[in-house]
Amino acid sequence: MVEVLVFLEQREGRLKGSSLEALGAGRQLLEEVGTGPGRLNAILIGNNIKDLAETVRCYGAQKILLADHPALERYNNRLYTYILAQEVQKRGAAIILLSATAMGRDLAPRLAARLGGPLLTECTSLDISDGLLEATRLVYAGRLSARVKSTVPRFQVVTLRPNAFPPAQAVGAGFKPAPAKVEMLDVSTLPTDPLTVFRDIIYTKGVKTDVSEARVVVAGGRGMRGAENFRILEELAELLGGVVGASRAAVDAGWRPQEVQVGLTGKTISPELYIACGISGSAQHLAGIVTARHIVAINKDPEAPIFRVADLGLVGDLFEVVPALISRLKG
Ligand code: FAD
Repeated sequence: MVEVLVFLEQREGRLKGSSLEALGAGRQLLEEVGTGPGRLNAILIGNNIKDLAETVRCYGAQKILLADHPALERYNNRLYTYILAQEVQKRGAAIILLSATAMGRDLAPRLAARLGGPLLTECTSLDISDGLLEATRLVYAGRLSARVKSTVPRFQVVTLRPNAFPPAQAVGAGFKPAPAKVEMLDVSTLPTDPLTVFRDIIYTKGVKTDVSEARVVVAGGRGMRGAENFRILEELAELLGGVVGASRAAVDAGWRPQEVQVGLTGKTISPELYIACGISGSAQHLAGIVTARHIVAINKDPEAPIFRVADLGLVGDLFEVVPALISRLKG
């Protein structure tokens, strides 16, 4: 029997959207790929998160393993790795899924090293045969995809690129599988020597949703000419239910915060719709958007490299095109 264990990431009692994608990926693996009988469990770590555990019972896992303790209030990689490794070893879980978020990227290699298992990162699709995992992952800044295969059937640690898998849907009353059981984990004997502690979380003002989680991203580059001009992108993003991102040139100019930078040294994103305004499409920028479902580019230079990857290209002055789009959407 294959056991898939999904790490559900929460902050201040709120579940990250990409954790539902990880649950969806786990469910898909066990239900559709013909692995025979399997178990899908999920693990939640934090403090005072019993209510959250109740709300995630309906997303297809058989068990929600809950580690609830004041010492786990804020993310601590040593304590989280300790709890995860202990549970995985106890259960002999074959596959451990985490989202490739900042937390998942920090936790997954530590966990794989602790377990002595393989680590498959930034996966965009998963398959399984004879208990061994096969995955597609992006390499060379997203310019190529590689097919990789685990060689051992136990403790395969996997990070999933956000927005690459459909999120798990809640199971309705009377449907199978039944809502998960919540199992409290014994966390009374945690290591008392965490090597680092979180002192504080400083939120960036004005950043509503993480660009890597958004379904629609409207991004601006050097062609925006100044911070004040991003107002039109905010309006467009709002109308489309999205958020505003930026190229590194726009971030370096101080027009947008670093948190919304898209690309090699920024966030990798996979939204349903990406609209690039006044962005040339450097290799480093494209590294962050190759898995966007639809790319629209607005640029006055018909030779701009962004048009080579765009599904739809609008050659024109963004200060005319964007307001025209806004008035069409309003009208
Ligand atoms: P530009 O390349 O200057 O392009 C501006 C575009 O705007 C042009 O194509 C122009 O035609 C168009 N334009 C101007 N005015 C208008 C108008 N009125 N209407 C329509 N179009 C207009 N970059 C990133 O974005 N993300 C990264 O994570 C990143 N990481 C990097 C890491 C390294 C190690 C290095 C070396 C570079 C990195 N860069 C990154 C920088 C990258 O190489 C480019 O310099 C940067 O992406 C350029 O940003 P841009 O497209 O906004 O600006």
